[in-house]
Amino acid sequence: MSLKLLKPRINWDEIQTVMLDMDGTLLDKHFDDYFWEEHVPEIYAKENNINFWDAYDELMAKYKSQEGTLKWTDINFWSKELRLDLVEMKSRINHLIQVHPYVIDFLMFCKRNCKKIYLVTNAHSKTLAIKMAHTEIDAHFDKIVCSEEIGIAKEEPEFWPRLEKKLNFDKNKSLLVDDNEQVLNTADTYGIKHLIFVAKSSSKKPVVYSKKYPSIIFFKELM
Ligand SMILES: [Mg+2]
Repeated sequence: MSLKLLKPRINWDEIQTVMLDMDGTLLDKHFDDYFWEEHVPEIYAKENNINFWDAYDELMAKYKSQEGTLKWTDINFWSKELRLDLVEMKSRINHLIQVHPYVIDFLMFCKRNCKKIYLVTNAHSKTLAIKMAHTEIDAHFDKIVCSEEIGIAKEEPEFWPRLEKKLNFDKNKSLLVDDNEQVLNTADTYGIKHLIFVAKSSSKKPVVYSKKYPSIIFFKELM
């Protein structure tokens, strides 16, 4: 069985605004996967005197119950819920935060071509701060928007009209790149014209193409 690959074809003259997701899109999602699926269970197991896999199962169930909501990325919520200082734990392993290949080149390419560049992320402001301090990519954006400012996650249809009100973009001349298909779906329904899926969100995981949206592995494919 062969899967027909949707290759991105972008006419840059048609684009004024570039909106980019952070985790998995610009930054290697391996950091987040490692943190939530290995580091946190390890510490949680130790703190609660249980074994790693019991901690893992318990945490996965807790994470799952909040998926697609703002609580899912709310590091204060999880610190309280798990009785762990997650901000401190994240800061301590910040050396594992990595920018994906060609991202800086792409940001500079957008700048040279006079596009408005927005980082639009569900990440919590405290997590965002840790990541920006480590990668220093914040200087490349005209504005950074966290979903908590909008009040709902990007997976919610109502997110996009609220974002438009805030940023005043033309959805017919906007490009959104994200590694979450559900986010692309709500943006699509709202009418964001150009949508690209990131097929390799983590350096440690295989490429998974979208069947619905044009996919890239690296940003060099868009330049
Ligand atoms: Mg993402």
